[in-house]
Amino acid sequence: MKLKNPAQIEKIRESGKVLARTLDRLGRMVAVGVTPLDIDAECRRLLKEAGATPAFLGYMGFPASICVSVNEQVIHGIPNRRKFRSGDIVSLDIGVDLDGYISDSAATFPVGSVAPEIRRLLTETRRALELGIAAARPRGRVHDISRAIYRHVTQFGYGVVRPYCGHGVGFSVHEEPQVPNYVSAGPNPRLKPGMVLAVEPMVNLGGDDVSVLDDDWTVVTDDGSISAHFEHTIAVLDDRVEILTLLDTSEPLIAGAAL
Ligand code: MG
Ligand code: MG
Repeated sequence: MKLKNPAQIEKIRESGKVLARTLDRLGRMVAVGVTPLDIDAECRRLLKEAGATPAFLGYMGFPASICVSVNEQVIHGIPNRRKFRSGDIVSLDIGVDLDGYISDSAATFPVGSVAPEIRRLLTETRRALELGIAAARPRGRVHDISRAIYRHVTQFGYGVVRPYCGHGVGFSVHEEPQVPNYVSAGPNPRLKPGMVLAVEPMVNLGGDDVSVLDDDWTVVTDDGSISAHFEHTIAVLDDRVEILTLLDTSEPLIAGAAL
């Protein structure tokens, strides 16, 4: 587990600001008739303009600058030419590399007119992210985050994706520790000042189970149910937890977790 000093956290904060602005712009692009490849091209352009690079491009061989996962696709969708249709939901997941400092954030956006139960899935998955972050305290434990997320989403009967989870980030795309979205039997490290973590609930309208498609990347729900994904990069500071991938203009929704 690699702790970051204040100067390094400041660099990740800058990376996170680039990411927040990029994700906001790309989220506004999501509309009927737009394709994942359109989003990928604009992501590449915006990051270049900001002097950053897409951290996922080439990571373990990933072929694009952003993951675009539609409907039953959970994460790691490879951008293609299929146009978004009204009623779809689109998860955008971006890693930003700014001068070697990595931030990671995702959000799921509705296209046109989306069914009420799917809108609710988006609202409650985002809420789970807020509650998970609000539960994170300096000198608390990773499972405080996991428990808050799991408790929130399971009360709606949603499925929680288990094989993929949050993680340390900052110097590389994936670092220790893992941040599961359920309380696991695995390691439960203390949240030490200097830790930088990606917190990322992946929540299904149906069951928990997921598989990887033949493209070796795209993760889909086994029952074909719709899946949502929200993610922020946070830093554990001496006296509080800070979200590094918020827009400057974002309003705090609940105490302790501006989002
Ligand atoms: Mg991500
Ligand atoms: Mg991540």
